[in-house]
Amino acid sequence: MPKGLTAATGMDALTHAIEGYITLGAWEMSDMFHLKAIEIIAKSLRGAVENTDEGREGMALGQYIAGMGFSNVGLGIVHSMAHPLGAVYDTPHGVANAIILPTVMEYNAPATGEKYRDIAKAMGVEGVDSMSLDEARKAAVDAVRQLSADVGIPSDLKDIVKMEDIDFLAQSAYDDACRPGNPRETSVEEIKELYMSLL
Ligand SMILES: [Zn+2]
Repeated sequence: MPKGLTAATGMDALTHAIEGYITLGAWEMSDMFHLKAIEIIAKSLRGAVENTDEGREGMALGQYIAGMGFSNVGLGIVHSMAHPLGAVYDTPHGVANAIILPTVMEYNAPATGEKYRDIAKAMGVEGVDSMSLDEARKAAVDAVRQLSADVGIPSDLKDIVKMEDIDFLAQSAYDDACRPGNPRETSVEEIKELYMSLL
Protein backbone atom coordinates (compact mmCIF):
# COMPACT_ATOMS: atom_id res chain seq x y z
CA MET A 1 0.00 0.00 0.00
CA PRO A 2 1.26 3.52 -0.72
CA LYS A 3 2.04 5.90 2.17
CA GLY A 4 -1.26 7.81 2.23
CA LEU A 5 -3.37 4.65 2.17
CA THR A 6 -1.20 3.05 4.87
CA ALA A 7 -1.62 6.12 7.10
CA ALA A 8 -5.38 6.37 6.55
CA THR A 9 -6.20 2.70 7.04
CA GLY A 10 -3.84 2.56 10.01
CA MET A 11 -5.57 5.47 11.70
CA ASP A 12 -8.90 3.77 10.96
CA ALA A 13 -7.61 0.70 12.81
CA LEU A 14 -6.56 2.90 15.75
CA THR A 15 -10.03 4.46 15.73
CA HIS A 16 -11.59 0.97 15.86
CA ALA A 17 -9.44 0.14 18.87
CA ILE A 18 -10.10 3.38 20.77
CA GLU A 19 -13.83 3.61 20.01
CA GLY A 20 -14.18 -0.11 20.74
CA TYR A 21 -12.41 0.35 24.08
CA ILE A 22 -14.73 3.12 25.28
CA THR A 23 -18.00 1.99 23.62
CA LEU A 24 -20.98 1.22 25.89
CA GLY A 25 -20.86 -2.52 25.18
CA ALA A 26 -17.16 -2.91 26.05
CA TRP A 27 -16.26 -5.69 28.50
CA GLU A 28 -13.19 -7.62 29.67
CA MET A 29 -12.72 -9.66 26.50
CA SER A 30 -13.08 -6.74 24.08
CA ASP A 31 -10.90 -4.57 26.36
CA MET A 32 -8.15 -7.14 26.07
CA PHE A 33 -8.20 -6.96 22.26
CA HIS A 34 -8.52 -3.19 22.08
CA LEU A 35 -5.77 -2.27 24.55
CA LYS A 36 -3.31 -4.62 22.86
CA ALA A 37 -4.34 -3.26 19.44
CA ILE A 38 -3.77 0.34 20.60
CA GLU A 39 -0.31 -0.63 21.88
CA ILE A 40 0.71 -2.43 18.68
CA ILE A 41 -0.70 0.23 16.33
CA ALA A 42 0.89 3.12 18.25
CA LYS A 43 4.23 1.29 18.06
CA SER A 44 3.94 0.22 14.40
CA LEU A 45 2.08 2.79 12.31
CA ARG A 46 4.92 5.28 11.81
CA GLY A 47 7.17 2.44 10.65
CA ALA A 48 4.49 1.01 8.36
CA VAL A 49 4.10 4.40 6.69
CA GLU A 50 7.90 4.40 6.18
CA ASN A 51 7.52 0.86 4.79
CA THR A 52 9.63 -1.00 7.39
CA ASP A 53 9.04 -4.74 7.76
CA GLU A 54 8.43 -4.37 11.52
CA GLY A 55 5.89 -1.61 10.96
CA ARG A 56 4.03 -3.53 8.25
CA GLU A 57 3.95 -6.72 10.30
CA GLY A 58 2.79 -4.86 13.39
CA MET A 59 -0.06 -3.19 11.53
CA ALA A 60 -1.15 -6.52 10.00
CA LEU A 61 -1.54 -7.84 13.54
CA GLY A 62 -2.80 -4.67 15.21
CA GLN A 63 -5.61 -3.98 12.76
CA TYR A 64 -6.71 -7.64 12.99
CA ILE A 65 -6.83 -7.65 16.79
CA ALA A 66 -8.75 -4.35 16.76
CA GLY A 67 -11.25 -6.00 14.39
CA MET A 68 -11.65 -8.97 16.73
CA GLY A 69 -12.55 -6.49 19.45
CA PHE A 70 -14.88 -3.98 17.86
CA SER A 71 -16.79 -6.52 15.76
CA ASN A 72 -18.06 -7.85 19.10
CA VAL A 73 -19.06 -4.57 20.74
CA GLY A 74 -19.50 -1.74 18.20
CA LEU A 75 -17.97 1.72 17.91
CA GLY A 76 -19.08 5.34 18.49
CA ILE A 77 -19.66 8.74 16.91
CA VAL A 78 -16.20 9.15 15.36
CA HIS A 79 -17.40 6.57 12.87
CA SER A 80 -20.91 8.07 12.78
CA MET A 81 -19.43 11.44 11.80
CA ALA A 82 -16.95 9.92 9.33
CA HIS A 83 -19.53 7.88 7.38
CA PRO A 84 -21.44 10.83 5.84
CA LEU A 85 -18.14 12.50 4.84
CA GLY A 86 -17.37 9.41 2.78
CA ALA A 87 -20.87 9.44 1.28
CA VAL A 88 -21.06 13.16 0.49
CA TYR A 89 -17.44 14.10 -0.34
CA ASP A 90 -15.74 10.74 -1.06
CA THR A 91 -13.40 11.46 1.88
CA PRO A 92 -11.33 8.30 2.55
CA HIS A 93 -12.81 6.56 5.62
CA GLY A 94 -9.55 6.49 7.56
CA VAL A 95 -8.75 10.14 6.86
CA ALA A 96 -12.20 11.22 8.08
CA ASN A 97 -11.86 9.12 11.25
CA ALA A 98 -8.34 10.33 11.97
CA ILE A 99 -9.33 14.00 11.69
CA ILE A 100 -12.41 13.56 13.91
CA LEU A 101 -10.94 11.16 16.52
CA PRO A 102 -9.09 13.60 18.86
CA THR A 103 -12.00 16.07 18.92
CA VAL A 104 -14.55 13.39 19.76
CA MET A 105 -12.18 11.90 22.34
CA GLU A 106 -12.20 15.28 24.11
CA TYR A 107 -16.00 15.39 23.90
CA ASN A 108 -16.38 11.82 25.21
CA ALA A 109 -13.78 12.15 27.98
CA PRO A 110 -16.26 12.80 30.84
CA ALA A 111 -18.00 9.48 30.06
CA THR A 112 -14.88 7.29 30.05
CA GLY A 113 -13.75 6.94 33.69
CA GLU A 114 -10.08 5.91 33.82
CA LYS A 115 -10.00 4.50 30.29
CA TYR A 116 -7.97 7.31 28.71
CA ARG A 117 -5.23 6.63 31.26
CA ASP A 118 -5.08 3.07 29.90
CA ILE A 119 -5.06 4.42 26.33
CA ALA A 120 -2.22 6.85 27.07
CA LYS A 121 -0.23 4.06 28.71
CA ALA A 122 -0.86 1.70 25.78
CA MET A 123 0.35 4.43 23.43
CA GLY A 124 3.65 4.60 25.28
CA VAL A 125 3.15 7.90 27.15
CA GLU A 126 5.47 7.97 30.16
CA GLY A 127 4.52 8.88 33.74
CA VAL A 128 0.81 8.26 33.18
CA ASP A 129 0.27 6.67 36.61
CA SER A 130 1.30 9.82 38.46
CA MET A 131 -0.90 12.12 36.35
CA SER A 132 -4.24 13.53 37.47
CA LEU A 133 -7.23 12.17 35.57
CA ASP A 134 -7.46 15.35 33.48
CA GLU A 135 -3.75 15.20 32.64
CA ALA A 136 -4.01 11.54 31.66
CA ARG A 137 -7.00 12.24 29.45
CA LYS A 138 -5.17 15.09 27.75
CA ALA A 139 -2.09 12.90 27.31
CA ALA A 140 -4.16 10.25 25.50
CA VAL A 141 -5.71 12.81 23.14
CA ASP A 142 -2.31 14.46 22.53
CA ALA A 143 -0.72 11.09 21.70
CA VAL A 144 -3.44 10.39 19.12
CA ARG A 145 -3.11 13.87 17.63
CA GLN A 146 0.69 13.51 17.41
CA LEU A 147 0.52 10.10 15.71
CA SER A 148 -2.01 11.42 13.20
CA ALA A 149 0.20 14.45 12.41
CA ASP A 150 3.32 12.25 12.14
CA VAL A 151 1.71 10.12 9.43
CA GLY A 152 0.56 13.14 7.47
CA ILE A 153 -3.17 13.38 8.23
CA PRO A 154 -4.68 16.91 8.06
CA SER A 155 -5.79 18.38 11.39
CA ASP A 156 -9.20 19.79 10.38
CA LEU A 157 -12.10 19.47 7.94
CA LYS A 158 -11.67 22.92 6.39
CA ASP A 159 -10.88 21.57 2.91
CA ILE A 160 -13.58 18.90 3.08
CA VAL A 161 -16.84 20.06 4.68
CA LYS A 162 -19.08 22.76 3.21
CA MET A 163 -20.98 24.85 5.73
CA GLU A 164 -24.31 24.44 3.88
CA ASP A 165 -24.12 20.65 4.38
CA ILE A 166 -23.69 20.74 8.17
CA ASP A 167 -27.34 20.06 9.07
CA PHE A 168 -27.51 17.07 6.74
CA LEU A 169 -24.17 15.70 8.00
CA ALA A 170 -25.16 16.06 11.66
CA GLN A 171 -28.55 14.39 11.14
CA SER A 172 -26.92 11.56 9.14
CA ALA A 173 -24.32 11.05 11.85
CA TYR A 174 -27.00 10.97 14.54
CA ASP A 175 -28.98 8.35 12.55
CA ASP A 176 -25.85 6.24 11.97
CA ALA A 177 -25.71 2.66 13.33
CA CYS A 178 -22.58 3.41 15.41
CA ARG A 179 -24.08 6.33 17.36
CA PRO A 180 -25.97 4.37 20.06
CA GLY A 181 -22.67 2.77 21.15
CA ASN A 182 -21.08 6.14 21.94
CA PRO A 183 -20.15 6.39 25.63
CA ARG A 184 -21.58 9.91 25.96
CA GLU A 185 -25.19 10.53 25.08
CA THR A 186 -25.30 13.00 22.21
CA SER A 187 -27.70 15.00 20.01
CA VAL A 188 -27.92 16.34 16.47
CA GLU A 189 -27.09 19.79 17.85
CA GLU A 190 -23.96 18.60 19.68
CA ILE A 191 -22.74 16.65 16.65
CA LYS A 192 -23.23 19.80 14.60
CA GLU A 193 -21.02 21.69 17.08
CA LEU A 194 -18.37 18.98 16.84
CA TYR A 195 -18.26 19.32 13.04
CA MET A 196 -18.15 23.12 13.32
CA SER A 197 -15.24 22.99 15.78
CA LEU A 198 -13.23 21.29 13.01
CA LEU A 199 -13.93 23.95 10.37
ZN1 LIG B 1 -13.53 2.23 10.41
